[in-house]
Amino acid sequence: MTPAPVSSRPSDPAAPAAAPSPNRPSLAVPPLVGASIAELTDWVKEQGQPAYRGKQLHQWIYQQGARSLEDISVFPKAWRQTMAAVPVGRSQIHYRAVARDKTVKYLLKLADGQIIETVGIPTAKRLTVCVSSQVGCPMACDFCATGKGGFVRNLSRAEIVDQVLTVQEEFGRRVSNVVFMGMGEPLLNLDAVVGAVRSLNEDVGIGQRNLTISTVGVPGRIRALAAHQLQVTLAVSLHASNQSLRETTIPSAKHYPLTALLDDCRAYVQETGRRVTFEYTLLAQVNDTETHAAELAGLLRGFQSHVNLIPYNPISEVDYRRPSGDRAQDFLEQLEELGIAASIRQTRGLDADAACGQLRASHLEVDSDSSNLAAVD
Ligand code: SAH
Repeated sequence: MTPAPVSSRPSDPAAPAAAPSPNRPSLAVPPLVGASIAELTDWVKEQGQPAYRGKQLHQWIYQQGARSLEDISVFPKAWRQTMAAVPVGRSQIHYRAVARDKTVKYLLKLADGQIIETVGIPTAKRLTVCVSSQVGCPMACDFCATGKGGFVRNLSRAEIVDQVLTVQEEFGRRVSNVVFMGMGEPLLNLDAVVGAVRSLNEDVGIGQRNLTISTVGVPGRIRALAAHQLQVTLAVSLHASNQSLRETTIPSAKHYPLTALLDDCRAYVQETGRRVTFEYTLLAQVNDTETHAAELAGLLRGFQSHVNLIPYNPISEVDYRRPSGDRAQDFLEQLEELGIAASIRQTRGLDADAACGQLRASHLEVDSDSSNLAAVD
């Protein structure tokens, strides 16, 4: 498939190709995706090319969707051919599932054959990409399909940025928002995630405030993220109104008490000036009663935050239930009456295996049966 070039300039004045931040972690190049103009310029100079080719390379990678140096028609033919094997760092689309609401779930195949999930979520005004930060996830949250599948490896900066470029090319439209809510725990892969955030901001042209990092919480890592002084939104997966309930669905909670997690969230707000969002997956009868809502409001009183309620998306491995729409609405209203800002996250693409990691899980099952799932590449 030939990707549609996305050539319109972003409206965000900060980007693309703003001067790279002084504290942007340096990248081993190649692969080339995720590299700044400065890094690409250094690299072309090392290859004996004039410095201005760095800027051309940057434009071809981030705006023209170049997948190989051979594609770059402004480069001298002989050099293009010599450089044909240099990895640009683009994945292959292995499978796509289009939901009725036009949400598209992709399975992307990486250079080593691993498969990850990426989702494109369009609305009239926005195109949001839900990216993965790891292949699988070691956190093993009980209601999460990715957690049930175990952990394989971290993604590189290139593999994270590639997901956004892929969705941008597929939709032929600029990506406005990125949420790190696909497979994996972003704070266990902090260097690559921070590098990807800087590249998405400076190279792809997405404002930092339109980027959200979602975490279940890893001791020490929220403060480490805060020290990078990014303007991204931090979303924390709370999912329970007290410590003992949280431990029943989130094994890692045992090593990170709610009091310490919330202290670190307060420090994040202090350090960055950004608000923290709390995610709360509603599991019928488990954490969605009036008592839970009252307890949650007590826990978050005085906190500059917003609660995002996510009605549970059923996965096959466990028998939690999704609460009714009325129950979710009542929970929301109760929080609001108690002074807590909240909203219900609209479920997108439910008919395309909406729950995180579910499409990949069902694909791997089918694959190991050696039946055929329509692949598109
Ligand atoms: N590791 C990150 C990103 C996970 S996915 C984190 O934990 O935040 C993004 C959100 O979806 C998390 O809040 C996660 O707990 C939630 N989630 C995972 N599986 C779900 C399911 N089956 N139904 C509803 N929400 C789910």
